[in-house]
Amino acid sequence: MEFENIFDTHAHYYDNRFDEDRESLLESLPQRGVSLVMEAGCDMQTSRWGVEYSRKYPHLYCAVGVHPSDAGTVSPEDGYLEELAKLAKEEKVKAIGEIGLDYHYLDYSKEIQQQRFAQQLELAKELDLPVIVHDRDAHGDVLSMLQRYRPKGIVHCFSGSREMAEQLVKLGMYIGFTGVLTFPNARRALEAVEAIPLDRLVLETDCPYMAPVPFRGRRCDSTMIVHHAQVMAGLKGIDTQQMIDIANENGRRVYGISL
Ligand SMILES: [Zn+2]
Repeated sequence: MEFENIFDTHAHYYDNRFDEDRESLLESLPQRGVSLVMEAGCDMQTSRWGVEYSRKYPHLYCAVGVHPSDAGTVSPEDGYLEELAKLAKEEKVKAIGEIGLDYHYLDYSKEIQQQRFAQQLELAKELDLPVIVHDRDAHGDVLSMLQRYRPKGIVHCFSGSREMAEQLVKLGMYIGFTGVLTFPNARRALEAVEAIPLDRLVLETDCPYMAPVPFRGRRCDSTMIVHHAQVMAGLKGIDTQQMIDIANENGRRVYGISL
């Protein structure tokens, strides 16, 4: 099983689970079929980290933003939006993310999460950058905020219904899927993939999380994407390399990466 041209559109290589071998792993990716990786920031520190690391590796790009689970660690008064705007001027920064709503963990109140989400959606508009949206158990509110702000971008690790996927496609959004596609309880995600046109699908790992079967529960990395690419390809009736190529092109289109 040899594949090439993989674009992992969502990864977290800053995570301490990569401390042992981060440099050698990142360096090895192009030889192992992974030609592009989008590193997603979760707070100010990891956003700065992404900018720093994207300078070191030609195949690494990054997004800067504050995740809903970190929503309370920043506020407009401390200048976080100005710092994000400054970071976003860097050449390898291609999106604002990940941002959104997480009502599963509710680390911060819905109100705080919605404020930070709205502020960063506005920032992305101002900077003319796409967004990477995190939505966990907040489908209704995420959809209505996207309908209101109309950003371009990706809803990542999609867990909504087929109907929501169709609404997002109407809004012009792209939709990302992780190793969840290989899990036994993936029925809803598989139905969503079927409903999404090929030119709006992107592949991602969300590594170190969400390792696909047969690696479930282990540390995930970008090379494992082939396992869910295979599932996605099967649903679309094309071969796996074709799926990887199309997803790569989609990812570069939405992030504005020309090679
Ligand atoms: Zn993520």
